[in-house]
Amino acid sequence: MLPAERDWQAAADAIAAARTVLVLSHVSPDGDAIGSLLGMAGLLRGLGKNVTAAVDEGPPEELAFLPKSQIILPSLARGEFDLMVALDAGDIERLGAVGAYGLAHSRHVLNLDHHPTNTRFGHIQLVNPAAVATAEIVYDLLQYTGWSLSRDVAYALLTGLVTDTLGFRIPATNSRCLAIAQALMEAGAPLPEIMARTLNRRSFAEVTLWRQALPSVRLEDGLISAAITQGDLRQARLGKETNGELVNYLVEVDEAKVAVVFKELPRAVKVSLRAKPGYDVGRLGAALGGGGHVLAAGCTLAGTLAQARERVLPLARELIAAGDSL
Ligand code: 5GP
Ligand code: MN
Repeated sequence: MLPAERDWQAAADAIAAARTVLVLSHVSPDGDAIGSLLGMAGLLRGLGKNVTAAVDEGPPEELAFLPKSQIILPSLARGEFDLMVALDAGDIERLGAVGAYGLAHSRHVLNLDHHPTNTRFGHIQLVNPAAVATAEIVYDLLQYTGWSLSRDVAYALLTGLVTDTLGFRIPATNSRCLAIAQALMEAGAPLPEIMARTLNRRSFAEVTLWRQALPSVRLEDGLISAAITQGDLRQARLGKETNGELVNYLVEVDEAKVAVVFKELPRAVKVSLRAKPGYDVGRLGAALGGGGHVLAAGCTLAGTLAQARERVLPLARELIAAGDSL
């Protein structure tokens, strides 16, 4: 169900009534997580609210270019809040330790997200799976309330739009999100700079990781997969924070319908799923205890790489067969 007039009003009222606001986003934050969080934090500060922002372990280095990213705390140990705003998180667990703290120390919770797998947690929900990014919903709230748009907020929100649409290339891209991008540019957000700092860059460590992982790539009946081991990560001097964008690259292969990348963690495996239009990995991600979108989803499974492959690959084959039969 899309947000109704009363949901927008409830969100506006909760914000108006709050003095102290906690804004949070998901673990392993991406451009939309940090962009929508900083956009929301900036809007709230503009309204004179006392704002605390946090994500587990803080923002990743590659997003530190965003104005005011240094306000984001890596953990929470004190504070009581009138309102907690959860951004880009489909469920409470995705908010990590800061989410657990926030839930226990906030009077009201606003759940603002675009994942179709959203569990509808919180007192107020602004959940719109038709939005290309959570940043789009923050912009919609701004439009609803008539709050003013600063350059820093525009910068953060455009970063969310650009990163979640992969530079306006995903099938969900529509004229509406381009119109929002235009409005954000008019407010001072530099589109080419955001593109350059998010999509058109990589570290040499990532290239090293690809060099390690590419020999593991397999393609069979439309299913392309690869594995990143702990050894590969050590070789590249990368930790658990990166998926190296490898899965986005693999799904672009002409013959691929679904792409799966397995990344070995100390006692678990992070699974990244991508689909070509016509195939739905969102439900697979959710069925495996994670979540996501139709074309991009993921989960973390306990156990070894071999166990994860045995569990996921047959389900991915079924998913391809189901898509093929449509
Ligand atoms: P990635 O493969 O880039 O880590 O994740 C792709 C998308 O899948 C993310 O945007 C997120 O929506 C979703 N996702 C990935 N891992 C998880 C997970 O463990 N739980 C949930 N709920 N969603 C996930
Ligand atoms: Mn998002």
